[in-house]
Amino acid sequence: MSLAEKIQAVRDNIAQAAREVGRDPAEITLVAATKVQTSDTIRQAIAAGITVCGENRVQEMTAHLADNAYEGAALHFIGHLQTNKVKFVVGRASLIESVGSEHLLMAIEKQAEKISVVQDILLEVNVGGEESKSGVRPDQVEELARKAAALPHVRLRGLMAIPPVAHVTGENQPYFAAMYQLFVDIKEKLDDNKTVIDCLSMGMSGDYPDAVRAGATLVRVGTALFGPRPPLHP
Ligand SMILES: *Cc1c(COP(=O)(O)O)cnc(C)c1O
Repeated sequence: MSLAEKIQAVRDNIAQAAREVGRDPAEITLVAATKVQTSDTIRQAIAAGITVCGENRVQEMTAHLADNAYEGAALHFIGHLQTNKVKFVVGRASLIESVGSEHLLMAIEKQAEKISVVQDILLEVNVGGEESKSGVRPDQVEELARKAAALPHVRLRGLMAIPPVAHVTGENQPYFAAMYQLFVDIKEKLDDNKTVIDCLSMGMSGDYPDAVRAGATLVRVGTALFGPRPPLHP
C-alpha cells in the first residue's frame, strides 16, 4: 500500500469506529506520529492529506522545522519534554500534548510569557499507574488542571494518555474508558468562557479504533502509516 492508501485506510477505520458508537467521524483528528521519519516522508504525508504531525523528539522537530517540512500541517509535540528544552517547543508546536508535571507546566508558562504567546497544552495522564512513565496520576489531574487553567500564558485544552502496551486486542479499553471519564469530569468542572476543554488524545496504531469508540478526539498513529520503526536504542 502507498502512504496515501495507508492514510485512507486509517481514516476509514476511524470513521467506522466512530459510526459504531454514533459519533461524527469529523470529531476525530488523525495525528501522524512522525518520529524517525525524514522531512521528505513528512512532506509526502502532508501532500497525501495529513493535517497534523506529532513529534516527540525536540532535535528531530527542530531539524524538520528548519527544513520547512511541516508546511501545510499543524505541529503537535507529543513526547517527553525536558524543561531545559521547553524554549525549542513553546510557540513552535501549536499544541504540547505531553505536559505531565507541574514543573514542566510552570516552565512552559514562563517561556510563553517571555515570548508573548499563549501556548495550548494537554495534561498527560499516567492512566496505567506505571512507574516507568511520566504523567500525572489520575487522582491529581483536577488539581493540576485547575492550576493550568489559571495561568495567563497557557491554555488548557484537555488530556492525553499513553496506556500500557497492550498484548491483546481490547486490553486497553478500561484505560480508555477511565480517560474519557476524567475528560468529561474536567470538562464539567473547568469549561467556561476562557477554558474550552475539547481534546482527548489517546490511541496509537494498535488500538486507535478502541480509543475512538471510547471518545478520543485525537489519535496519534505512526506505524500504521509509515511502517515499523527501527528500535529506539539499538
Ligand atoms: C510513537 C508514538 C505514537 C505512535 O505510535 P505507533 O504505535 O507507531 O502508532 C503515539 N504517541 C506517542 C507519544 C508516540 O511517541
